[in-house]
Amino acid sequence: MKLQFAAWPEVEEYLRANAGIIVPIGSTEQHGPTGLMGTDYIIPSAMAEAISERTGICCTPPITFGMAQHHLGFPGTISLRPSTYVSVLVDVIQSLARHGFRRIVFLNGHGGNIAPVLTAMNEFYAGISFHREGGHRDVLCKLISWWTPPKTAAEITEIFGDGDGAHATASEIAVTQFLHSRYIKPVSADLRPARKGAVSDIHNAYDYRDRFIDGRIGSDVRLCTPEGGQRVFDVATDEIAEECMAFFSS
Ligand SMILES: [Zn+2]
Repeated sequence: MKLQFAAWPEVEEYLRANAGIIVPIGSTEQHGPTGLMGTDYIIPSAMAEAISERTGICCTPPITFGMAQHHLGFPGTISLRPSTYVSVLVDVIQSLARHGFRRIVFLNGHGGNIAPVLTAMNEFYAGISFHREGGHRDVLCKLISWWTPPKTAAEITEIFGDGDGAHATASEIAVTQFLHSRYIKPVSADLRPARKGAVSDIHNAYDYRDRFIDGRIGSDVRLCTPEGGQRVFDVATDEIAEECMAFFSS
């Protein structure tokens, strides 16, 4: 069930037999000269919908903005500050908990979201812990960043090797090519190899643009194909579906 297409009695009915929900989260940010601005929410959103269609699990619409301040040196990036993003996520958890959801998976597409998501979960748990009568004590949240489960990570390595990189990765761009082939951007013949590095080395938007001039970190976008993207999407969707089902029945 996709929440945006459900009416409230359907949600009420769902909650009689189910406690789980998937919330796709991502970012609207630069992904180099060929990657889509929406890459980081397009992918988890499509995975959540595929899992929902297969299993009947409820998924929400994506939260399309995330914590992307370090990408603001590139036009089009939209960022929430960390404190704003944590507040948004806590309010989403509180809303779902109020209705009776008891297992909430944040299916994430952006590395910069990881710290604020974990903080939001702890904010929510702290709210429960500070009250001796605390309601919602049985509500558990889980973060899954789609590229991290072991079979998915192995598939990415097998297809893209070192050329996957750390930002605007070959794998994520390939998955968007599979999902939205009409928006595939041509790779210009004079595209230079992306400088290698780690996202953790970057502090702010100026720093980023100075050091990684076209926005990519270590990714070889010549490796991207829709076929490679489909392989990653299929493995990830299977693996994440299993992980969600195990969590929802815990
Ligand atoms: Zn990304």
